[in-house]
Amino acid sequence: MKVGIPRGLLFYHYYPMWKVFLEGVGAEVVTSPPTSKEILDLGTKSSHDDVCLPVKIFFGHTVHLAEKNVDFLFIPRIVAVEREAYTCPKFLGLPDVVRNTLEDLPPIIDATVNVKKRDKSPLKAAIEVGKLLGAPMGKIKSAYKDACETLWTYRGLMLKGLTPDEAIEVIFNGKKLEKKQVNTDIKIGVIGHPYNVYDRFSTLDMLGKLKELGAEVITEEMIRQEDIEHHAQFLPKRLFWSYERDIVGAAFYLIHKKKVDGIINVVSFECGPDSLISELIQSEARRNGDFPLMVITLDEHTGEAGLQTRLEAFVDMLKRRK
Ligand code: SF4
Repeated sequence: MKVGIPRGLLFYHYYPMWKVFLEGVGAEVVTSPPTSKEILDLGTKSSHDDVCLPVKIFFGHTVHLAEKNVDFLFIPRIVAVEREAYTCPKFLGLPDVVRNTLEDLPPIIDATVNVKKRDKSPLKAAIEVGKLLGAPMGKIKSAYKDACETLWTYRGLMLKGLTPDEAIEVIFNGKKLEKKQVNTDIKIGVIGHPYNVYDRFSTLDMLGKLKELGAEVITEEMIRQEDIEHHAQFLPKRLFWSYERDIVGAAFYLIHKKKVDGIINVVSFECGPDSLISELIQSEARRNGDFPLMVITLDEHTGEAGLQTRLEAFVDMLKRRK
């Protein structure tokens, strides 16, 4: 049984966990390749104009996988991952929007995870998926345990400075990858949703460009969750969205502790949550002695030359300040 996982949105948060679980219950996992112009074109043609770039890219990956004749598409409905908050509304309706927008799709595995409801816990969702794929209960529970352990390994590797792609290589291909030591005194925090920060195509390889300019990059995934939680509490009111609260907490941590020389906040055009949290991050930067901050807004028309110029100017400015 082939199960396709589109390489977009929450792929960057959970892919190793999902893969270990699905293989543990007997499925063969197929993923779409890294985002490319063809995948973006597939996504923009098949989605509405007014959705954010990451959702368009997700649509492109979904269409690509559907053309590969997989038996199922794995698009879980992630509603809440903590009791006090929800995820972006786009995640709540993702399987429905995909199903009702795209044609000729294989069946979608859309188990719901909502930790606010007992019958929608991650384990319950895993049991639902395992049963659908015909696995016995013992196998489902053991696959779930392995999947949870893999998620912690994945997060531990990123905490040490690996990108999601590098961590995935270490976990599944046994590669010995370590964070390369960068000989530089310029550190830049690149803060935003991982599906923006780490998608080399949509960011025009921003992380690679910054390294070429001699900057060391710190991302949210390299910051301990305790530090993120602690600094998110400086918000006057608790944020309603989990992943966005983490982004704000990570940015506040870098600003308050002066862990970096400047921050690049990567946001998506047409993203409601990003437009709110970006304001919060900018205002915190202003309150902390005009901490250097640059906002880069991504859409399908972001141009390479413009981005390169802005990155060069930002890095030059940070070097002059030093
Ligand atoms: S948080 Fe923003 S970028 Fe992410 S899916 Fe929601 S609208 Fe799109």
